Amino acid sequence: MKWPLPSDVRPTVPRGGRGFAADRPGSKVYHAGVDLHANRHDLVVSPDEGRVVSIFSWPSWKTPTGRAVMIQGDSGPVYLLAPIEPASLSVRVGDRVHWKQPIGGVGVYPRGSSMLHFEMYTQGTRANQRWYKGKARPPELLDPTLYLEAAAAEHARQPTPASANGGGGIALLLLVWLFGQQRREAHAA
Ligand SMILES: [Zn+2]
Repeated sequence: MKWPLPSDVRPTVPRGGRGFAADRPGSKVYHAGVDLHANRHDLVVSPDEGRVVSIFSWPSWKTPTGRAVMIQGDSGPVYLLAPIEPASLSVRVGDRVHWKQPIGGVGVYPRGSSMLHFEMYTQGTRANQRWYKGKARPPELLDPTLYLEAAAAEHARQPTPASANGGGGIALLLLVWLFGQQRREAHAA
């Protein structure tokens, strides 16, 4: 599995209130996923090779403002990505998707905040599961924290187009400086 937000140059996996199984006051369920920092319209890509198995309104418990996309990964788990901005959604149920294939842009929650809520499930799951406080965790629901941490570490090691340009710029400055040194030395000699 790979990091689903390509523009995120310093990916972090929250624990605590934004993390998996967070016990939030006023909610009757534990947090079933992890909230990744993201801005509205940030590109969301498929974290795996796989197939889109479900798309539905999100959040499902309030007036929906976005969509949730579930992808059955070829490597086994099912991923849920939400909210996706409805107008930007670029996949349909049944589509084959490749790693890094755009799914859409990050949407917005009813109160105006944006983030990427990420859930994981066992193979074959086709609907999200709520984990009610005081009840056992639904058997299909996986803790995505360690998967995301491995993906974040891998993503952080990859050069971004911006840093590649920065590297080129530094190399050019070094050449200019060396050329200047040679000229000064030639002049002094
Ligand atoms: Zn969340």
